[in-house]
Amino acid sequence: MTDTLHIVGGGMAGSEAAWQAANMGVQVVIHEMRPQVGTFAHQTGLLGEMVCSNSFRSDDSEQNAVGLLHWEMRAANGLIMATADKHRLPAGGALAVDRDPFAQTVTDTLMEHPNISVEYGEITELPQSGSWIFATGPLTSSTLGQAIAAETGAEALAFFDAIAPIVYYDSIDMERAWMQSRYDKGETEEERTAYLNCPMDKAQYDAFIDALLAADKTEFHEGETAGYFDGCLPIEVMAERGRETLRHGPMKPVGLTNPHQPDVKAHAVVQLRRDNKLGTLYNIVGFQTKMKYGAQTEVFKMIPGLENASFARLGGIHRNTFLNSPTLLDGQMRLRSRPNVRFAGQITGVEGYVESAAMGLLAGRMAAAELLGGSLDTPPATTAMGALITHISGGADAKTFQPMNVNFGLFPPVDGLKSGRRGRKDRYKAYTDRAKTDWQAWLAPQAAIA
Ligand SMILES: Cc1cc2nc3c(=O)[nH]c(=O)nc-3n(C[C@H](O)[C@H](O)[C@H](O)COP(=O)(O)OP(=O)(O)OC[C@H]3O[C@@H](n4cnc5c(N)ncnc54)[C@H](O)[C@@H]3O)c2cc1C
Repeated sequence: MTDTLHIVGGGMAGSEAAWQAANMGVQVVIHEMRPQVGTFAHQTGLLGEMVCSNSFRSDDSEQNAVGLLHWEMRAANGLIMATADKHRLPAGGALAVDRDPFAQTVTDTLMEHPNISVEYGEITELPQSGSWIFATGPLTSSTLGQAIAAETGAEALAFFDAIAPIVYYDSIDMERAWMQSRYDKGETEEERTAYLNCPMDKAQYDAFIDALLAADKTEFHEGETAGYFDGCLPIEVMAERGRETLRHGPMKPVGLTNPHQPDVKAHAVVQLRRDNKLGTLYNIVGFQTKMKYGAQTEVFKMIPGLENASFARLGGIHRNTFLNSPTLLDGQMRLRSRPNVRFAGQITGVEGYVESAAMGLLAGRMAAAELLGGSLDTPPATTAMGALITHISGGADAKTFQPMNVNFGLFPPVDGLKSGRRGRKDRYKAYTDRAKTDWQAWLAPQAAIA
């Protein structure tokens, strides 16, 4: 007889965590606040509700990182994937689902499981004892949010994301861009060359501002802006405040010398900063935006050096409760300051239905293993699951940490393969082949209990 695992939040992550732990023989209680307490986005009291689009994105497990995550979750008997497959709708290479029967099936399957019970009501505190997983998502209730902030420190819990686009380093044209920190500041050579700079002349800057102003933008959802603060303005809003605002803000050209044209003073400079320890990803500094995705790729490719950029993720600003996981969570998804509490799902700083469910799968298995008297190693960073958990629990830069989709920039490179756009197909295949082998090897010893 083991202790009970309590899971707070029956969304993508909580539902998957419950399923995995219950299948390992652990008694699980899901605490879900809906329908008593709602959010601005959820419409029902069902578990596993999809709050917006009905897509789980690409299902290509050979050439796409989210497709690979699908594959890994299927291999681990994932509830969210099995239910998505059951209610699949035609959508080309994407996995789209019929949302109402999907959530109904997730709810029924969990309710029928002999090891799972559901208690409805809001949890408002972090408990001192027992084994808990908090999977309360981007719209965590405000009372619980305050309790989490009291434990972690207010600066380690965000209520909005401010996502600047992230570019694959190997898609940047270094014949035009160069590495240099403003005024060569820094103690070490690495610090003095921490930024990647893309210069603009006046004509390029003017065209860029025109494009920013004209681009299609998304609106906040109704009810989403409560608590939104002015400190992190979208780049296009800065441009609306005056054509020169960006040149005096994130695009100021001072303290930098372009080694490709040392005698030419840039009119404006776009800076990118390393986003992960591997150095495969760079974010465009200060470029959080509400532009629509299609518009973003068009506008950002106007930046000299980014003409052929591949984006690991595009920018956005959303209502989104998330932890500064690199400072707070260990590789077992436990709160370092209170190891009886794990976090899973979007609140850990992953982004998307699939990524949230994936982190639920890991948290559920890890918590159950611990309750059964053992432990599970963190999956290797060469797998999609492992790449994500490694990123949020330490691979990402804690100072600039923002929610992350799964993407190949999170994976350790495979040696001996061609970089850049031309080698992409072979490279992605090598990543996914390696991931599948390593994921199977991680799962194999658990087969007896899962
Ligand atoms: C408006 C909006 C639109 C989004 N659209 C998309 C999209 O189109 N595609 C995509 O891939 N991702 C989208 N996301 C991001 C994210 O992937 C989803 O929110 C996803 O559902 C996150 O999974 P989760 O399990 O972490 O959280 P959720 O699925 O939100 O589950 C959290 C659960 O916890 C419950 N809860 C919260 N607080 C408490 C409490 N104190 N006590 C008990 N229960 C509590 C909630 O009621 C909810 O059921 C969107 C997010 C938002 C906010």
